[in-house]
Amino acid sequence: MTALAENLARLEGHLARFREGGIANRIAGEDRPGSGGVFRTTSPVDGSAICDVACGTAEDIDAAARAAADAFPAWRDMAATERRRILTDVAAAIEARSEEIALCECWDTGQALRFMSKAALRGAENFRYFADQVPGARDGRHLKSPTLMNITTRVPIGPVGVITPWNTPFMLSTWKIAPALAAGCTVVHKPAEASPLTARLLVEIAEGAGLPPGVLNTVNGFGEDAGRALTEHPLIRAIAFVGETRTGSLIMRQGADTLKRLHFELGGKNPVIVFDDADLDRALDAVVFMIYSLNGERCTSSSRLLIQDTIRAEFEARLAERVNRIRVGHPLDPATEMGPLIGAEHYAKVTGYFDIARQEGATIAAGGEAVEGAGFYVRPTLITDATNDMRIAREEIFGPVLTSIPFATEEEALAIANDTPYGLTGYVWTSDLTRAIRFTDRLEAGMIWVNSENVRHLPTPFGGVKASGIGRDGGDWSFEFYMEQKHIGFATGAHRIPRLGA
Ligand code: NAD
Repeated sequence: MTALAENLARLEGHLARFREGGIANRIAGEDRPGSGGVFRTTSPVDGSAICDVACGTAEDIDAAARAAADAFPAWRDMAATERRRILTDVAAAIEARSEEIALCECWDTGQALRFMSKAALRGAENFRYFADQVPGARDGRHLKSPTLMNITTRVPIGPVGVITPWNTPFMLSTWKIAPALAAGCTVVHKPAEASPLTARLLVEIAEGAGLPPGVLNTVNGFGEDAGRALTEHPLIRAIAFVGETRTGSLIMRQGADTLKRLHFELGGKNPVIVFDDADLDRALDAVVFMIYSLNGERCTSSSRLLIQDTIRAEFEARLAERVNRIRVGHPLDPATEMGPLIGAEHYAKVTGYFDIARQEGATIAAGGEAVEGAGFYVRPTLITDATNDMRIAREEIFGPVLTSIPFATEEEALAIANDTPYGLTGYVWTSDLTRAIRFTDRLEAGMIWVNSENVRHLPTPFGGVKASGIGRDGGDWSFEFYMEQKHIGFATGAHRIPRLGA
């Protein structure tokens, strides 16, 4: 049996229960049908049906928000050591089922197993890291004044809504949900309609590991319906959202009446700038990895290559050669480097940019075509002879498409890099330290890596500027979002109180 056949057989074992019973919403520790009936989820690998999914509406969101509000006081007041223990147990339970999570994620999203096997483990790491932060989460400061002992403390904000996208959904969901739970908040999760499988596994695993009923509730459904209702619900204090920039704008409007606190992780059109003094072998590896891994469906992908004109011809030639060798195939084949795109609509969007590139006068130096057969497969694509005013340089394609733009000087590189509505990440390749310091200081991005691909370190702040987001995740920044600062002043003596009407 080949490794692919073995993985498919294992997958079938895991899918059997979904095929038989579908996916219900999970509210207050119980399976509940969706008031909107069901919708069908399909696999991008071959277009086949996976199962029916409960279609949540405002009614289900209301039930989930009430469950989260009911569960909140006990979860908030639980001893930190106990909450830490439960979240650590959740991490262990995720690890124990990491193969199932990885296989289901691949089948649901088209992501290659070589990356998804790590995504499940990273989900566990998110829980373990934030579990360890629980005992210090409430800590505050003592700010003494002449007449008062002022102290600060932090309290969880209340039930929160978490809305996630379809790209690496398990990893991203845990990234949001773990710090929310660690802070003492309860959660209503609305996963992306295109990838509901692992969100179901997460709530089931968490409850199995001891998370009390109602602390995490999962309502499936569509954005404009269940998603919207969550952002408008008066019991929900905050919304942590990962998704497209224009959805972020909608959520901001929807949340206005109930004054929602908002955390947005949105789109990007991130530059990787390669200077001619860089270690070009390493730069090449990183450029290829940061746009073609995860099918290019990655917010932090370096989708604009800014290449110094002195090395452009050679670098682009080497790049095209590598891109043409990327192994596109079945996500469960361990050799596969790129799987199919998430679905029909996204496939039409990504392949549409191949035509747009040609119409704009750019050159398709590699790829630029769909792969024949079932499933939403495209060839990894490199576009050269582009300028930064073209749509292929300005719009987030969110697929395996790299747009290469030449520059002559450092000033020009900086101007091109910053000439974008987005500002999530930037990658700089140079061996000139002073230039790296100067350049990163002026580059408009929330996260920048120098001579490195994106390497996530959980204590560091993750987030974007401009149209790429509002707020930061990671370390204590996550708690700043999910908790409220409280100030309490204690009089230290009988200071003079202004006397009116005396
Ligand atoms: P999307 O915005 O279409 O959907 C994301 C989620 O929002 C889904 O669950 C959807 O149902 C929900 N939604 C849609 N409309 C809504 C509404 N009116 N009210 C409430 N919820 C609504 O995004 P997508 O296509 O699923 O994901 C891809 C996008 O996510 C890309 O733009 C990508 O860059 C971005 N992303 C950003 C980060 C980051 O950290 N910055 C990480 C991953 C993905």
